[in-house]
Amino acid sequence: MSQPDVLVIGAGPAGSVAAALLAKRGYQVLVLEKQHFPRFSIGESLLAYTAQLLQEAGLFDAVVAGGFQYKNGASFVWGEQYSEFNFADKFTAGCPFTFQVVRSEFDHLLAKEAERLGATVRYGVAITEIDVSGTTPVVTAKVETGEVEIHRPRFVLDASGFGRTLARLLDLEKPSSFPMRAARFCHVKDRIPAGEFDRQKIRVGINPKHRDVWSWLIPFPNGTSSLGVVATLDQHRAYQGTDEEKYWAQIADEPKLRELVKDAQITRPVGEILGYAANVKTLCGPGFALLGNAAEFLDPVFSSGVTIALHSAKLAAEVLDRQFRGETVSWQQEFAEPLMFGVETFRTFVLGWYDGSLQDVIFYPDKTPAIHRMICSVLAGYAWDAANPYTGVPSARRLRTLAGMCRDGTAKRASAGLS
Ligand code: FAD
Repeated sequence: MSQPDVLVIGAGPAGSVAAALLAKRGYQVLVLEKQHFPRFSIGESLLAYTAQLLQEAGLFDAVVAGGFQYKNGASFVWGEQYSEFNFADKFTAGCPFTFQVVRSEFDHLLAKEAERLGATVRYGVAITEIDVSGTTPVVTAKVETGEVEIHRPRFVLDASGFGRTLARLLDLEKPSSFPMRAARFCHVKDRIPAGEFDRQKIRVGINPKHRDVWSWLIPFPNGTSSLGVVATLDQHRAYQGTDEEKYWAQIADEPKLRELVKDAQITRPVGEILGYAANVKTLCGPGFALLGNAAEFLDPVFSSGVTIALHSAKLAAEVLDRQFRGETVSWQQEFAEPLMFGVETFRTFVLGWYDGSLQDVIFYPDKTPAIHRMICSVLAGYAWDAANPYTGVPSARRLRTLAGMCRDGTAKRASAGLS
């Protein structure tokens, strides 16, 4: 068996985009995926920056032709308060729209497109061991029929998502600093009357009693939606009954959402994901790099997972191309650090969401247009734009200051009798 230049573990969005980018540059790419596609995956609302990344990988036209739900922004609801962000208002140049996708279809389409561009994708093959002590990695894969294969690629990209293959095999796991949260979710025939809400936006609803409990409503075509609730593990465990009973009780705790989906019907079994936040000690090492969720996962609230996965694939493909062409590269400086710039942006936003400060900003009625555009840019996925003051590590301090100003403004409006 001839050896590939690159072995990619997993055919999720990170794996397929990395494979497409490298195959387009003429490299031999082998993707080994342990499951058979189409398979269910969570993570259905994309951010606008993904459109640009898919374009660069030569995958965008196929996604457009795939008939997915057009998405142009995000709406936030908290009791009587409503705020929306239209990606067209963003500060950073780039595509202002994206899609909400049934992941079984989307991931399968990307993997098939990566094959069309020259990558080899094999299903039912799981990576079980890796040795990175030599000059090139030695990878052991187990085929579902029982055979064991040894591969000696020049480089390994781990895109195994929550499988976290290399983090486990190379002892790279590091606990996340985020508290344990869990999501309960389902697909529904939503039966929401036309005009009741904007189907071109994800709807994020906040529980009126607990600001850290929130719901997502992600519309798909044909009157179906993904509907889920995120809460701490203890908050989840407070609900009793069957999975469906617990699910509907949790939805009902947000009265505006309950009203919106009162006629909805479940179309697939209720799912649960517990304690998904994860981290690693390093994003790269001798002969390997970690992409997407195989590295770090923050939180679902700003739908950043697929965007980070695709951006990590783009960065890795660029560094690897230069390495293969004989240039001296630093994976730390050219892959890990640039990737973490945007991850830190999203971390700031996620922390601000759960401590309430970002919610104060989002619902502030008197937003300065320039600042609104900068916040909108991050919500559209353009988290790596260093020209935006609300990106990178400094975004934490700036967001705190902005939230303080919004709270003062809200107090002044209240004392002046304005809502
Ligand atoms: P994955 O999509 O997980 O793909 C990894 C693939 O690797 C899988 O197909 C798996 O079978 C395969 N694999 C695993 N182990 C092995 C192995 N040993 N050998 C071979 N193959 C292997 N993100 C968004 O962008 N928008 C959202 O709205 C959103 N909502 C979310 C809601 C929740 C509750 C959660 C938990 C996450 C959400 N995410 C969202 C995050 C999103 O699910 C992930 O970030 C995204 O799927 C990561 O893509 P990936 O390519 O890194 O990994």
